[in-house]
Amino acid sequence: MNKMIDILELTWKEIESLPKDKTILFLTFAPIEEHSHHMPLGVDIFLGETWRNKALEMISEKNPDYHLLTMPPIPFAQGSIKGFPGCLHVSQRTIYQVAYEILDKIANWGIKNIVIIASHGEPKHLIAIEEACDKINKKHGLCAISPMGAFFSYDELGIDLDFPEQIKEQLKKYPNDFHAGWIETSAMLDIDENLVKKDFINLPDTDVKEKEMIFPDKVNKKIAGLGHIGFPRLATKELGQLLNINSAEFISKATLAFATRQDYKKYQHHSLYKIPFLRTNFVRNVLRVTGLIIGLIIIYLWVRYK
Ligand SMILES: [Zn+2]
Repeated sequence: MNKMIDILELTWKEIESLPKDKTILFLTFAPIEEHSHHMPLGVDIFLGETWRNKALEMISEKNPDYHLLTMPPIPFAQGSIKGFPGCLHVSQRTIYQVAYEILDKIANWGIKNIVIIASHGEPKHLIAIEEACDKINKKHGLCAISPMGAFFSYDELGIDLDFPEQIKEQLKKYPNDFHAGWIETSAMLDIDENLVKKDFINLPDTDVKEKEMIFPDKVNKKIAGLGHIGFPRLATKELGQLLNINSAEFISKATLAFATRQDYKKYQHHSLYKIPFLRTNFVRNVLRVTGLIIGLIIIYLWVRYK
């Protein structure tokens, strides 16, 4: 059997006979979403699949004994960009539930290494998938990881992504490039120039500070009519090639750390995972506690004054 294969091409008998501790299944979980005037709706999915394919090559080169499985992407996500047609956004709770149920099924097949490539920077999307992985790992034993939250918050987590000088300089000069800016446009130019409209060099910059990113209404006002957050005009194919290789190296490194169960914990969570209001059940838990307190007060008053 080919060692790098899409599960759509396998029989159930072949899945059954895989050496489970030498098998890794990759799943891209990123949305169909607007990417400004110059790029198509599939950017996050194209990026995830490209990084995965490159990572697969890197892993199989170093570890030819691994069976590396892929499957079709899940094309929706939690997201907060509003006011554009072409976005397939669902609630954080739906992401959590879908991720949990899918992981539960795959874990039941006996797969011990499931790597989710959530190539979409929204913290709540990444955190919901990480929560699903945590629950699955409790239920089935360690078998699932979603390392992209750690990737997108590398700075806060103190993870060294080992960027080439050129990228480091550009990140310093033009930070806050959050969506369809020079980072994603460069990466897409490297994947397929024909998917990027040539006039991207004429698009105006949109200036959104990192602190403002947690206020979606503010962001949506600033990018209205455009759809990018950052500096698309600065994109080049060369930067894109460096970025794509760097992302693939990260995925390869995190995957091997996880598959060998060595030093993988730093890749399990986004730096914002600990913030209560970004978690899936935050509102429910607040309502539950509030309900409980009101209930206790009513009982107290009833007992006291009846
Ligand atoms: Zn994107």
